[in-house]
Amino acid sequence: MTKEDDKSIPVRVALRCRPLVTKEINEGCQTCLTFVPGDPQVIVGIEKAFTYDYVFDPTTEQEEVFNSAVSPLLCGLFKGYHATVLAYGQTGSGKTFSMGGTYTSAQENEPTVGVIPRVVRMIFQEREKHTDCEFSLAVSYLEVYILDLLCPSVSKDKPSTINIREDPKEGIKIVGLTEREVFSANEMVGCLELGNSARTVGSTAMNAASSRSHAIFTITLEQSDNVVSKLHLVDLAGSERQKKTKAEGDRLKEGISINRGLLSLGNVISALGDESKKGTFVPYRDSKLTRLLQDSLGGNSHTLMIACVSPADSNIEETINTLRYADRAR
Ligand code: ADP
Ligand code: MG
Repeated sequence: MTKEDDKSIPVRVALRCRPLVTKEINEGCQTCLTFVPGDPQVIVGIEKAFTYDYVFDPTTEQEEVFNSAVSPLLCGLFKGYHATVLAYGQTGSGKTFSMGGTYTSAQENEPTVGVIPRVVRMIFQEREKHTDCEFSLAVSYLEVYILDLLCPSVSKDKPSTINIREDPKEGIKIVGLTEREVFSANEMVGCLELGNSARTVGSTAMNAASSRSHAIFTITLEQSDNVVSKLHLVDLAGSERQKKTKAEGDRLKEGISINRGLLSLGNVISALGDESKKGTFVPYRDSKLTRLLQDSLGGNSHTLMIACVSPADSNIEETINTLRYADRAR
């Protein structure tokens, strides 16, 4: 279910629908999305259809998502292109599952392994093939908290302000962020596993903080001719709208702040994908998220957005929001 390959397209959008989860089945939820075999299309209800570069229905395995949508970006990486993979969607839609944000080494050979460990394996396989050229690889993993006004004690340990600098040679740099040089695939997935466990511990303590934070796993590839390419693999904060009744005061502020990042990301991506806007101003500076990713969005880079949705009718409103957001990005 893909359109033919065209390396010149800077932004691609994949729609991924997960299966109904047990809770939804137990609650008697019905599926509200229909898929057209052989067509990258999804139909909501009975008439509204959306088309994307790729559409992955609930039966699609992780391997297929990786092979068809993600692996083309990696070929570009070795040619010096930057790349970004973003998982977007409401909390519970399958972002972390898709990206591999719960990866542990015990899962290593399971078909459920997500994007990041597959990327790591392929990068090291590719490196073996390029015997003519030396590569060094480094990794960093960071979680961007938006604001945590409900949990000030945790906020103290994880300040929501990060210091971003623009280095003329190295591009966007985050002051104080650990960047670890790695020499093997095992070492690199070890970094993922370490970061994932830190994120899980944080989230139980903070009541599913992952819905209020972006996790960014960054691989930097430096070739012997000093060409540096960066790959950002991003598990975005939940895109759900704040319910007016539940979100008031500080809580509402927090929600607005998350949505501002996602909103400006949408604006940046749509500006990049629009041929008619070529060469015009791209609003990277509107949010911390887009500043952080600035290097690898637009210009010499390729972007894939994986928009994740639940098939359940109980989620239809948020699903339509995601379908629209993803539609605008194309
Ligand atoms: P998010 O990160 O968007 O909040 P998760 O990735 O945690 O959502 O997914 C929510 C639940 O759905 C998890 O239990 C996850 O294992 C399950 N899930 C998500 N996508 C799939 C899929 N494609 N196949 C099977 N289970 C999935
Ligand atoms: Mg998650």
